[in-house]
Amino acid sequence: MSKRDEPLTMPLVGPAKVAGAPVDPRAADEPARASAWLIRLEAGAPERTVRSLVERLRGQGLEAACHDIGGGLVAVGRAEREQLRQGLEATALAGRLIAVETPYRLVRRDAAPEGSIVRIGARAFGRGFSLIGGPCAVESRLQIQAAARAAAGAGIHVLRGGAFKPRTSPYAFQGLGLRGLELLAEAGRASGLPVVSEILDPGHLERMYPLVDAFQVGARNMQNFELLKALGDVDRPVVLKRGPSATLEEWLLAAEYLLAGGNGQVLLCERGIRSFNTNTRYTLDLATAVQAKALTHLPVIVDPSHATGLPELVPPLAAAALAAGLDGVMFEFHPQPEAALSDGPQALRVEALDAMVERLRRVEAALAEAGLREAGLPDTPR
Ligand code: PEP
Ligand code: MN
Repeated sequence: MSKRDEPLTMPLVGPAKVAGAPVDPRAADEPARASAWLIRLEAGAPERTVRSLVERLRGQGLEAACHDIGGGLVAVGRAEREQLRQGLEATALAGRLIAVETPYRLVRRDAAPEGSIVRIGARAFGRGFSLIGGPCAVESRLQIQAAARAAAGAGIHVLRGGAFKPRTSPYAFQGLGLRGLELLAEAGRASGLPVVSEILDPGHLERMYPLVDAFQVGARNMQNFELLKALGDVDRPVVLKRGPSATLEEWLLAAEYLLAGGNGQVLLCERGIRSFNTNTRYTLDLATAVQAKALTHLPVIVDPSHATGLPELVPPLAAAALAAGLDGVMFEFHPQPEAALSDGPQALRVEALDAMVERLRRVEAALAEAGLREAGLPDTPR
């Protein structure tokens, strides 16, 4: 069977089953050496003992590091299975060895087979279907307050709004900068919603940190490695958009930068890729989003607003993402789309929000009824 023919095993309910190492580390089909290894330690492994395992492996000249991903996880570079087995024995730790031949290690599904949870404010992404919505850009106090009220009223979980905008044209509205973030944070507080906003420059990190509940890395910055390294060192979730021409592997390696830096709170967001289509702004690559979900333990959401540029395609594609077993949707709406300073033509009207949420709730109920998905959307406050 060629690699392309291998089935992606991802049930819609429960953890995805992706083959990891056999439970018995001496099992015959486990390689004697591999390019890299993960050691998934049993729950409750004492931190000090885990550190002594890492030290021991480093003492043998191996590249080893401990990560807090779905419990204790030790990542090791190229090594012999026997060295790892002896290390476990010497420290009396019980763990499962996973031979890694993919270029990415920590984002692999078998690093945390049950799937990781990413919390933005009180919302747990990775369980149920979550909604991030708001305007493309924060434009004024009046605008973002109106958007926040509408979002909270419709049952949206996280308010979005760009303050530092990556615009194709230098003459286009560039965002309100820090002032915009202050207005976003204020609107979030007033509506009880956590907020997410895009970071363009690692130099903005410190000033943004107190004002946002999550950082967004935009499509254009997916491979801004200095930005990824800076965010790897931060204890705030990151919404990592896929670059419009990035392969699945490049996208996952961008996420790997964040995890390797120590930030396990990463949400993948597919936002459309370049194709020959001219009828939509980009092309929503739902297939790759589903693959990303199967191959990694990270929650995966889609952004049908930027993918299509057409507000009428947002509700049906959000429903498709829900039915495909993904974790949520990010989309744009605006209290007055015709007056918006950026991405107005793709913004849903506030009046369309309730119908979209209701549609998703019905799809979710039908999927739950069919045993295909657990219900996760909270009741819409009226
Ligand atoms: C956005 O979310 O406003 C945005 C600019 O998205 P992207 O980076 O996907 O183009
Ligand atoms: Mn936008």
